[in-house]
Amino acid sequence: MSSDSPPPSYSPPRPPPPYESPEPKTEKSLEMADNEKNEKRESSIRIGPAPFVPLSAQPSAFMHPPSQSSTLVIVHPVKEAATSAPYQTFCPKCQMPITTRQHYVTGTFTWILVVVILIFFFPLAFVPFCLDSCKDVQHYCPKCSTPLSYRRKFF
Ligand SMILES: [Zn+2]
Repeated sequence: MSSDSPPPSYSPPRPPPPYESPEPKTEKSLEMADNEKNEKRESSIRIGPAPFVPLSAQPSAFMHPPSQSSTLVIVHPVKEAATSAPYQTFCPKCQMPITTRQHYVTGTFTWILVVVILIFFFPLAFVPFCLDSCKDVQHYCPKCSTPLSYRRKFF
C-alpha cells in the first residue's frame, strides 16, 4: 500500500507534458499539411507550363521535313476540262499519252436542279442524281487513276 502513495506525486508533473506536447504538434502538422498542399499546388502549376516548352521547340524540328518532302512529292494540278467526254492527254505520272476515264460527280448544277424540282414537282427531285448529264465530270488517268481535270456543269 505504501507503494500506492508515491505515484500520485509523480503523476501531477508527468501528465501535463504529454497532453501539451501533442497539441502544438497537431497545429504544426496542420501547418505542415497546408504548406505541403501549397507546395503541391505550386508544383502542379509549375508542371503545367513546363511541357509547353518542348512542344514549342518541336515545331521548329517539324519545319525542316516539309522542305525535304516538297522536293519529293510532285503535285499534279487538276485543270479545268474543256469537255465532259473522254479525251486524249498526257499523264504526267505515267509519262505517256492516255485517254481519260471519266467519273460523274454530283456538283453545283445537280443540286440547283434538285432544289428547283423540289419547288415545282418534288416527287422527281431525285432525277438529277441519276442523270450523268446533270453532274460534273472528273477525268482520271485509266492506268494510275490520277485526277487530271475537272469539268463543271455550272460555271
Ligand atoms: Zn497515269
